[in-house]
Amino acid sequence: MKITTIEAFVIELPLIEPFTISYVSYDKMPSVIVKVTTDDGWTGYGEGVADEHVTGESVESVYHVITKTLAPHLIGENPLNLEALHDTMDRAILGAPTAKAALDIACFDIAGKALGVPAYALLGGRFHDTFPITHVLSIDTPENMADKAENHVAKGYTSFKLKVGYDKQDDVDRIKAISERVGDRAQIRVDVNQGWQSAATTLQALNDLHNVSLDWLEQPVTASDIDALAEVKDKATVPVMADEALTGFKEMREIIAKRAAEKVNIKLMKCGGLYPAAKLAAMAEMAGMDCQVGSMVESSIGSAAGFHVAFSKKMITSVELTGPLKFSRDIGNLHYDVPFIQLNEQPGLGVDVDERILHDLTLYSEEVTP
Ligand SMILES: [Mg+2]
Repeated sequence: MKITTIEAFVIELPLIEPFTISYVSYDKMPSVIVKVTTDDGWTGYGEGVADEHVTGESVESVYHVITKTLAPHLIGENPLNLEALHDTMDRAILGAPTAKAALDIACFDIAGKALGVPAYALLGGRFHDTFPITHVLSIDTPENMADKAENHVAKGYTSFKLKVGYDKQDDVDRIKAISERVGDRAQIRVDVNQGWQSAATTLQALNDLHNVSLDWLEQPVTASDIDALAEVKDKATVPVMADEALTGFKEMREIIAKRAAEKVNIKLMKCGGLYPAAKLAAMAEMAGMDCQVGSMVESSIGSAAGFHVAFSKKMITSVELTGPLKFSRDIGNLHYDVPFIQLNEQPGLGVDVDERILHDLTLYSEEVTP
């Protein structure tokens, strides 16, 4: 089997409501979709959603790297040889994990379809039967965030992730408001997205929250300062999760060596796809750390890919892959039994892509052939 064609599409996915975190707010989610075709007629889809603040890639750079740098190297290669494909991509360009993830995901989709198995079967098989969906609350006023949490508890949600990180005191008020409203019925996780920057600010905030029960605190300090993360972990009683601090293997080694976190948030867009994500989960397991699989707010394709990794690994104990629930239109049909997800057993990613919607949402595209 050989890859014959790689098409890339820059699309915009319309959001039901704006998504706001500490460093940016989106109305529409730009994404790069790839469609990989083989000489024996298999087709696989992949996705790359860039976050400039996390990997240094933009939607334009992901598209450029896929079409100009990576695709020419992958055409003629066997999509089932994932170790070799990643070696080829890593030799072609340093970094660029989101561009590599898009192609990795498409190759897993093809491999699963060609072998007649779900993608998770290529990663060790199914371990988890189901995951509860964590509802992510965008930054808003304490009252509005508590109202939204209350509405979602009524729909059966049992866990929330609060996005904070604008101003420490306002953030403490937000967290307290939600805890007072739903803390007896739901688990609360807080994601600061680096917004408190230093260990000192973080420890002050935690001091103000000493009687609030939190599941964990995610990435309170600047991503590059793993020492600060380690200091928070040393002094806090709330478990600490590394997110932006963890991209690939190098950062994972440093987090493990410095014992800087109890938990890590693995994202396919940060590490280069399902194949490296499974390796990161193995590294975390060796270090005794729990993992979450998160996302950059991706369509059915990227989200399904994350679920296949999550469902196959014991150490992955939570998921945050709710992109498709945030879009008013999606190119695929990943199914959620809100507030749970149960992955189907169809071959590959198990997602049917509606090409008509893909073309409707496309801003520009390119086909790369030999
Ligand atoms: Mg995060």
